[in-house]
Amino acid sequence: MNTEVLKYNKESIERAAGIIRNGGLVGMPTETVYGLAANALDEAAVASIFAAKGRPQDNPLIVHISGIEQLAPLVREIPEVASRLADRFWGGPLTMIFPKSDVVPDITSGGLDTVAVRMPASEAARSLIDACGLPIAAPSANLSGSPSPTTAQHVYDDMHGRIPLIIDGGECSCGVESTVICFRENKIHILRPGGITAEMLSEFAEVEIDKAVSAKPAADERVLSPGMKYKHYSPKADVFIVDEHGDAFKRYCLTHAKGRTIALGIGTENDGIFIDYGACAEIQAQRLFSLLRYADDSGAELVFVEMPSQDGVGLAVYNRLLRAAGFRIVKE
Ligand code: AMP
Ligand code: MG
Repeated sequence: MNTEVLKYNKESIERAAGIIRNGGLVGMPTETVYGLAANALDEAAVASIFAAKGRPQDNPLIVHISGIEQLAPLVREIPEVASRLADRFWGGPLTMIFPKSDVVPDITSGGLDTVAVRMPASEAARSLIDACGLPIAAPSANLSGSPSPTTAQHVYDDMHGRIPLIIDGGECSCGVESTVICFRENKIHILRPGGITAEMLSEFAEVEIDKAVSAKPAADERVLSPGMKYKHYSPKADVFIVDEHGDAFKRYCLTHAKGRTIALGIGTENDGIFIDYGACAEIQAQRLFSLLRYADDSGAELVFVEMPSQDGVGLAVYNRLLRAAGFRIVKE
């Protein structure tokens, strides 16, 4: 199959909507990462998302909508706090989990009785959802296990030959996937941290953070969010988080460099093996996946990453890095 890449505009959105209405897949820009979009209510279309990504069947998809009135048909119940969160944070990088209605096929929800729903902020994503007139299932548009795509080129690198069209909407502004939450006993329970932070959510209700966010679940453990079980976001190189800062971080990397090595530092100068991955968490989030892909493109065997802060968006950066590094944290 030939894969076309078209700039986001009215014509390309019409083309993309035609493909999706006919059961096909399209690479879709959003503010978080690029998604692999299909009709969320069409079992065969959703099955082809899992096939194109090589995604485990029990890892449910997020359903994307473009207007709040599209939520009610997908769910059996909308908690009051969810309505208030939607008012404040939709469109934006917040995914909420609801009891699912019968219109959502089991394959979309990975066999669960719940469905994850998000309204993106991205104009390109929303105009595509509008043009389809359908809720859109869209996991990140990478091959399962590899870093999520933040440019149309990244999607092309993973998906060419597997999908007919990618809409190029430029670089994603958030760079990490949405915050995923569910509601438990009047609390907001964070299953995956993202651009909408625990601090922001705590204005609405008590917030708790799932332990799988920062710890490796045991092989036989039942996790609330199936995606947390899997190795994720990793380049071919061996990745380690280095729990040292400043000169101690540099010393560690220079001492332990082996073969082609890249060291991603916080606000460091680009020099030798060192590359700056951002002085603040928002920039780190935006650059992280792109730099992990760059590591592969440049043939790196080893990647060291300076330990990020775990506050605000930093928790999302830390969560993705832990998985990219297979939970390996080193220090001097
Ligand atoms: P991705 O589509 O790659 O951004 O991943 C979606 C994330 O949302 C995964 O970590 C899923 O496990 C999680 N998710 C989606 N639907 C549900 C659900 N119904 N319950 C719990 N987690 C979900
Ligand atoms: Mg993903």
